[in-house]
Amino acid sequence: MSGLILIRYGELALKGKNRDQFENRLIQNIREKLSSFAGIKVKKTFGRMFVELNGQPMEPVVEELREVFGVVGISPATEVESDLDKIREAALELVQGLEPRPRTFKVIAKRAWKGFPHTSQEINHLLGSHILKNSEGIRVDVHQPELALRVEVRREGTYLYGRDLSGPGGLPVGSSGRVMLMLSGGIDSPVAAYYVLKRGAALEAVHFHSYPFTSERARQKVEDLAQILTRYAGKIRLHVVPFTEIQTQIREKCPSSYMITIMRRFMVRISEELAWRNGALALVTGESLGQVASQTLESMNAINDVTRMPILRPLVGMDKQEIMKVSRGIGTYETSILPYEDCCTVFQPKSPVTRPGVERSRELEAALDVERLVRDAVEATECVTFNRETMKEEFTYF
Ligand code: ATP
Ligand code: MG
Repeated sequence: MSGLILIRYGELALKGKNRDQFENRLIQNIREKLSSFAGIKVKKTFGRMFVELNGQPMEPVVEELREVFGVVGISPATEVESDLDKIREAALELVQGLEPRPRTFKVIAKRAWKGFPHTSQEINHLLGSHILKNSEGIRVDVHQPELALRVEVRREGTYLYGRDLSGPGGLPVGSSGRVMLMLSGGIDSPVAAYYVLKRGAALEAVHFHSYPFTSERARQKVEDLAQILTRYAGKIRLHVVPFTEIQTQIREKCPSSYMITIMRRFMVRISEELAWRNGALALVTGESLGQVASQTLESMNAINDVTRMPILRPLVGMDKQEIMKVSRGIGTYETSILPYEDCCTVFQPKSPVTRPGVERSRELEAALDVERLVRDAVEATECVTFNRETMKEEFTYF
């Protein structure tokens, strides 16, 4: 008898070539996610995916699978020889091993191998009565059982599935191309990352820092957030852009009310350039409409004016409370609320415009050598790669 996990995924909407790509990507992501568990195997058979535990404990593996996008359902399962006594024993053990213990159950058997000497109906009865006879406080409920014990009899073995736990859904990371996330140290942008990852985008991230106005710890906090996000993303490359000179120049040469708008325009120009260089096809921010003065539609127009690349804003329909809830759920909240200042806070003007104009922003930028400032910042960008296990490879790559 051996421990298995059956993985259900959103196969219904998928056909032909897409389906193959989806499945291959998913299986690859699951293998990578579980790579620290020795001996575990991930297989695709009969159009389904199984994890073979080979002696590893069930619980921690299930927890890992709950962070793999594309996984819709997770069923702990057992495989035994197709022999009635062995199946009975396995069914009982499975029921008794569940926490909390189900109070009602039914058996749903399927005899795929017609050489097996009992029909599906007979198997239902044989297993049901064996469970009833050998356990306390459990009864059969054919309409709304707490446990639907599925039994599938095949020539090469019988599979028994217990509870179906929910996975995160979505699409496997890497199946929808690559995006460039603008990652600040706040609560929102890591949550925005979660939602684009959920739709299958691979993640690259960019952070602007204004050392020495912002501390090394502020940068460390962003690196910690990137590290946490690898749980969902796998590998993440973080591009750290020195932003001090640009901010200093904006402060000297532009009116303070436009400081934030012009700063954001620079961030977007640089992010776009880094996106092109790294094969990303969209930018992502943690903006939510109307959340703060700088997140108005006018402001979004002024920001979008400098790029032709789509800017995805996955949090646009969410309230701060909802965002915070997701942030706690994905494990970034505690790091996000650490008090280290961000480059926008340090340079925060007293009264930013809430309705910046596109034309006005262009006019004001005429006082700056935009092209040179962008080029210099891109050239001085450092790249750090994060993996699930450890932070690796640090290099300057231009
Ligand atoms: P967050 O919680 O993500 O910091 P916020 O509510 O503080 O968001 P803003 O400060 O207006 O909002 O920033 C809006 C978005 O701009 C952020 O979600 C992020 O995507 C991007 N951004 C802001 N500051 C930086 C930065 N220093 N580096 C990279 N991206 C940034
Ligand atoms: Mg912020």
